[in-house]
Amino acid sequence: MNIKLPLALLSVAVLAACGDNKAPEADATAVAKAVANTPADIAASYDSINTEQLIEHVKVLASDEFAGRAPSSLGEKLTLEYLTKEFEAVGFKPGNGDSFLQEVPLVSLEASTDMALSIGGKDYQYGPDMVMSSSRITELSELKESELVFVGYGVNAPEYNWNDYEGIDVKGKTVVILVNDPGFATQDPALFTGNAMTYYGRWTYKYEEASRQGAEGAIIVHETAPASYGWDVVKNSWSGPQFGFQRDDLNKDRVAVEGWVNVDVATELFAKAGLDFATAKANAAKGSYNVDMGDLTASVTVKNTIKHSVSNNFIATLPGTENPDEHIIYTAHWDHLGTDITKQGDQVYNGARDNATGTGALIEVAEAFSKLPQKPKRSITFLAVTAEEQGLLGSKFYAANPVIPAAKTVANINMDALNVNGKSKDVAVYGLGQSQLDDYLTVAAKKQDRVISGDPSPAAGIYYRSDHFAFANIGIPALYAKGGAQAADEATAALRAKLDPILKSCYHGLCDEYSTEWDLTGAVEDMQLFFEVGYKLSNDGAWPQWSKTSEFKR
Ligand SMILES: [Zn+2]
Repeated sequence: MNIKLPLALLSVAVLAACGDNKAPEADATAVAKAVANTPADIAASYDSINTEQLIEHVKVLASDEFAGRAPSSLGEKLTLEYLTKEFEAVGFKPGNGDSFLQEVPLVSLEASTDMALSIGGKDYQYGPDMVMSSSRITELSELKESELVFVGYGVNAPEYNWNDYEGIDVKGKTVVILVNDPGFATQDPALFTGNAMTYYGRWTYKYEEASRQGAEGAIIVHETAPASYGWDVVKNSWSGPQFGFQRDDLNKDRVAVEGWVNVDVATELFAKAGLDFATAKANAAKGSYNVDMGDLTASVTVKNTIKHSVSNNFIATLPGTENPDEHIIYTAHWDHLGTDITKQGDQVYNGARDNATGTGALIEVAEAFSKLPQKPKRSITFLAVTAEEQGLLGSKFYAANPVIPAAKTVANINMDALNVNGKSKDVAVYGLGQSQLDDYLTVAAKKQDRVISGDPSPAAGIYYRSDHFAFANIGIPALYAKGGAQAADEATAALRAKLDPILKSCYHGLCDEYSTEWDLTGAVEDMQLFFEVGYKLSNDGAWPQWSKTSEFKR
């Protein structure tokens, strides 16, 4: 290991720090120097990462036996046993004292679907028209003739001088909200962050803000484009037990009832209120906006079945040789949607791509570190979190109860739904420009003759939809990237033309299963990238920083 390396990287960082506050532009010569300085002795580790082993892990984790890996299920037990066996086999130590586990106390709430939403003299059906639930940890939550108010995007963003709740009191009322944000609606780059979704566009934010405003009910209007997924995803994800944290206040500060209606129902409701949905939607994108929906009221009763359970985050560490208290943390969620016994035929949501690939990648990258002739100076920790599909719960719990102090955590590298459709010329970074981790990635990608590209679907707000977000929220620079849209060659482009529509339709579906059609060579390149970034960070003593424009701070 020669001195020059950190210096070279340092110069990239310094350049970034004193440049404008756009994503740090990696200095080409410094990058080339850093690449040339890649120590040879990581080659064996680098090359140990391969498709065969990843396929083995995916086949096990996404097998029907693992039953879709629902939290607090037999699938959880089998997954944790598998991770323990695999990490012990590559010499990793328990990461939480003498345990590989961090308990995550969960409460599951399952709303019975025999409900109807009554508005304007009509009963809307659960499933085809709407989905409703309650996060309140009580058996019965209801809306009784609750007045409907349309609040546009339901955003209260002082930094954008925008407040859809301005001038109204929604206490005891039910707010109707559009999904995504005005920037997406107008495609105006000067509005919010234009096409790139802000956290204000996420469904989680809509319910959080409606609750802060004291509303009794909150109903989001589903439209496929702004939501970036179809009504089926809403139906599948909202049905069945919904997990949350056990809370002393029983979530009383949350709206009593929260849910979605599809756009056809919304259009009908606006007409009933003497309004026009398209016009109201257009007004909502022009500035802070809200309007009463005539004398329409909503009534619905949500009967919750409450179950308390404990799930687990899995944590394993390779202690550093010089700074063992400083850690690089790799994450991937091990959980998926489980098994739906009400289904005919196939009942298992195997979650092969989402996220048996990422969980398998944790093991593969860990093995690469274990093969290093010289162990890293800093510690390398692998954290497989639970209940990501339930709202990033495992990572949120970890962030609220960090086993490794945030101040001692150098960076987080998250892996979720790796590429299964071959190699890419580019590496897409979700949240590009957020931090100096982009530098490290640029250097490592160069070695693979790959370039860095931005978020391929900024409108979907992916940076807020996986476990790195919890780390970013406690100030730890977090990287979430994978092979981008530029197919490496014609054969790969042809494979993608065939495979991508299937992969898209299988997102959170029963058909997210391992296929021999998959090409994991792109995933291998990405794992090698993540390994190299972590390896560099584990030896260079640097503390990557957030960029000035980032909404996150160390
Ligand atoms: Zn996932």
